[in-house]
Amino acid sequence: MDITDLLGEVKSKIAERHLHYIMNPIQEKIQSLREELTKHNYNYYVLDNPTISDYDFDMKLKELQQLEAEHPEYHDPFSPTVRVGGMVTKNFETLVHEYRMYSLDNSYSREELEDWEKRVQRILGGTEVAFVCELKYDGASISLTYENGELARAVTRGDGFQGDDVTNNVKTIRSVPLKLKGDYPDKFHIRGEIIIPREGFAQMNQERIEAGEDPYMNPRNTASGSLKLQDNTEVAKRPLDCLLYSIVGEKLNFSTQFEGLEKARKWGFKVPPITRLCHSTQEVMDFIDYWDTHRHELPYETDGVVVKVNSLAQQDELGYTAKAPRWALAYKFKAEQVSTTLNSISYQVGRTGAITPVANLEPVLLAGTTVKRASLHNADQIAKLDVRVGDTVFVEKGGEIIPKIVGVDLSLRPSDSEPTDYIAHCPECGTELIRKEGEAQHYCPNYYACPPQITGRIQHYISRKAMDIEGLGGETVSLLYNEGLIKNYADLYLLQKEQVSPLERMADKSAENLINGIAKSKEIPYERVLYALGIRFVGETVAKKLAKAYPTVDALRAASLEELIAIDEIGVKIAESVVEFFADEDNIHIVERLKQYGVQMEIAPENLIGQTELLKGKTFVVSGVFESISRNELKKKIEDNGGKVASSISSKTTYVVAGDNMGPSKREKAEKLEIPIISEYDFMEMLNN
Ligand code: AMP
Ligand code: ZN
Repeated sequence: MDITDLLGEVKSKIAERHLHYIMNPIQEKIQSLREELTKHNYNYYVLDNPTISDYDFDMKLKELQQLEAEHPEYHDPFSPTVRVGGMVTKNFETLVHEYRMYSLDNSYSREELEDWEKRVQRILGGTEVAFVCELKYDGASISLTYENGELARAVTRGDGFQGDDVTNNVKTIRSVPLKLKGDYPDKFHIRGEIIIPREGFAQMNQERIEAGEDPYMNPRNTASGSLKLQDNTEVAKRPLDCLLYSIVGEKLNFSTQFEGLEKARKWGFKVPPITRLCHSTQEVMDFIDYWDTHRHELPYETDGVVVKVNSLAQQDELGYTAKAPRWALAYKFKAEQVSTTLNSISYQVGRTGAITPVANLEPVLLAGTTVKRASLHNADQIAKLDVRVGDTVFVEKGGEIIPKIVGVDLSLRPSDSEPTDYIAHCPECGTELIRKEGEAQHYCPNYYACPPQITGRIQHYISRKAMDIEGLGGETVSLLYNEGLIKNYADLYLLQKEQVSPLERMADKSAENLINGIAKSKEIPYERVLYALGIRFVGETVAKKLAKAYPTVDALRAASLEELIAIDEIGVKIAESVVEFFADEDNIHIVERLKQYGVQMEIAPENLIGQTELLKGKTFVVSGVFESISRNELKKKIEDNGGKVASSISSKTTYVVAGDNMGPSKREKAEKLEIPIISEYDFMEMLNN
């Protein structure tokens, strides 16, 4: 530790003592909870090394929230409780950047990189130059201003001269320190990138798909979209992270970029450890080559490497061009790209009515797989690229699931080609499409009569996680619908074997299986029926929550918006969707019919026996083989008593219930994270107490 660090530490210790000295016990309790929670946030989100269970953390947070509510006189805008949201920004104020946020010049080859280095050397007149290599994080840039160690402002890049004040939203990002520690300068700005790590993004999309929504296209756009949400409670739910890479200001207490990064880490910022101080072009190239091949192993996306002159004095000397610093260069990794012919464009209609344009391509090999189709996203994208049928197009595989078209080879465009007219009517039902203000996607509003929306809803109803109807698949649903035998999922229960067996590819036996499968679905418990109804935003977990809060469908139907929002983890969007669903006469009629046919529309009384809230807030991972109980029974017991079952061990796990043959890697992970491993008998005892 150098002397300035030491001084900083001493100063903050004295300040702390002083505070405690004049505090009453309540204030002291609040203060100590804040300090403790801040420390745990830091351990978890910046160091990736939690030292407390999520459950204990939540308990402490709740305690602090309660105390703060009871004692508004001790309000603190930097309390860890602001992380959970509760603020709405109607209009984002425009703020001028004190220091302009520049762009970066790009390079794509070793030659370009060498040219840049020569230019730098020439301007600096042959003095020795060291370079810092960092990854180029692919997200939304942000400028954070700290005054006296407190986060004063967070502003988006905007046009580089001025951006939007998104402070309330950024405060919810756990890895952004609200207060700093150590020897920070009185005032400075720190720049970074707000990103969504791959895993969080995938999970977020999984939840959207389960709730019947379209998945987000890529993490970068989702991250920047998140910053502009009005309700920061929503922002708080998104898995955003903030990686910092540069400090600007007056009177900074360091003289190189590398030192600046190290300092920033000490003050509490998340600065990725993958940075390297290099003294030659070769070293720089080695770093680039290494990460070009290993970038897929990173938890977040990167599209290149940023090379910066290390010395701040040299940076000053080099200065800026109209758009970018002369002392930095972005080396962009190549995305794998091929060209092929666009044969046609088709338009898909999802279960929610969203239209997705799809490019049908001449098959081509890309990154190891044959590609026949690519996403065109939406009407704006098609217009922007001016993509036309018959064009030779460039196809790339980025972070997305299906490849995308990134450009057109105009030199190969046929002379008779015509601009693409985006469809104005639904390709399936002919209804005029609508596009909501601010949304990129077109929708078919014909909820009741658009075939893919109807069959989509029925297919969802019968799917494995919903009613799990054996003997009935997606194609059969289309067939039954096309034959006019079903128009909604309630109609399934009126099907007769005689109607079904004459259908194409339907043997007598399979018709019988189908009818039996449908009849058997009447035993499916209420919470799954609720999920099966296909109410927008009501995924499996939400359905369980709703069923628990409202054990009958009639009670749920009667619930008001306010009552629904009051349920733990039910937000406005979900609540609105539920209210909307039950405000519709046709939906009510269908639900009434299901009830009449014997489908479970309330929690069966026997299912309520043995249900408690004993394990509320606890997450279990079940592993191995058990003596006295089956794995499924064990899982059910956990859920019946208010606990959660997760499939893999993480810092969010409260207990691992282990039987025989628990995997060694699981055990190792649990031990590393210090998660208690208990036996089935310990678990039973936990319930009995
Ligand atoms: P571009 O958007 O292509 O002009 O690239 C410039 C942007 O790269 C900057 O505005 C930053 O937001 C972003 N960036 C990502 N990682 C870094 C990094 N390590 N150093 C500097 N800028 C970065
Ligand atoms: Zn339609």
